[in-house]
Amino acid sequence: MDSSDTVLRAITDDGSFRVIALETTSTVRDAVEAQKPEPTLRRTFSEFLTGAILVRESMSPDLRVQCILQGDDGRSRIVADAHPDGTTRGLMQLAGGATTFSVEEKGVMQVARTLNNGSLHQGIVSVAGQGGIAGAFMAYMQTSEQITTMIAVGTHLVDGQITAAGGYLVQILPGFAEGPLMLMTERLKDFQDIGPLLARGSGSPKTLLAEIFFGLDYSLVGERKIAFGCNCSSTRLAASLATLPRADIESLLIDKRMLEIECEFCRKEYRFSPEQLRGMLDSN
Ligand SMILES: [Zn+2]
Repeated sequence: MDSSDTVLRAITDDGSFRVIALETTSTVRDAVEAQKPEPTLRRTFSEFLTGAILVRESMSPDLRVQCILQGDDGRSRIVADAHPDGTTRGLMQLAGGATTFSVEEKGVMQVARTLNNGSLHQGIVSVAGQGGIAGAFMAYMQTSEQITTMIAVGTHLVDGQITAAGGYLVQILPGFAEGPLMLMTERLKDFQDIGPLLARGSGSPKTLLAEIFFGLDYSLVGERKIAFGCNCSSTRLAASLATLPRADIESLLIDKRMLEIECEFCRKEYRFSPEQLRGMLDSN
């Protein structure tokens, strides 16, 4: 993996809290490079990917998690697709003519997990007016998963370029009263906006853990690498082409040229010859 991004998991020694802290600088930088959102949208896009990775690490580290955030216009959306191998890819899809993306009035978050038996677990919640990306993920965790979770995500940009990105998630573990949670909530008020930490190079997962757990005994329980990555392949694209209606494949054959298709996530180009397309017709 060509990335120095990591996720750390830690638990307080009294078993009351768990924290997942991560750096996503390379991951979101590569995703932005592939999607090329306008500079004004890079923060939102990056923070959404960071939030999706946090949710995956928290709810189902062994499963694929796809998050879709639908904007106020009802048509623009951001997609994050996080895989158990630690790779994540994203899509920024703006409705025709849209130049902004917000979830303050009609935002909807959809989170889908592919379970080991192949079935899909899906949650859809309104995230309107929850205070941006972190608020949207917290609303999802509370409403759909019923776990009180504090989430912070941040991206530091200099001249439109991402120089640091990351975030954390704090959860109180079952069996503990709301009391400690109140104290933790109070403590985290200072860290809800991790932008300043990222800006001065103090946003590493280790530093975030030390800040969140200041004065508490805790133990690291896991560490893993994460990176941008796309699992597209010629075989996968061919398989989805083959599901097109016969007439559509026939129309692709009319001009007898190579068909060029770009992966919408990573922008890699794939080419299919008329012979390959004809082969799909035969098996269609
Ligand atoms: Zn791809």
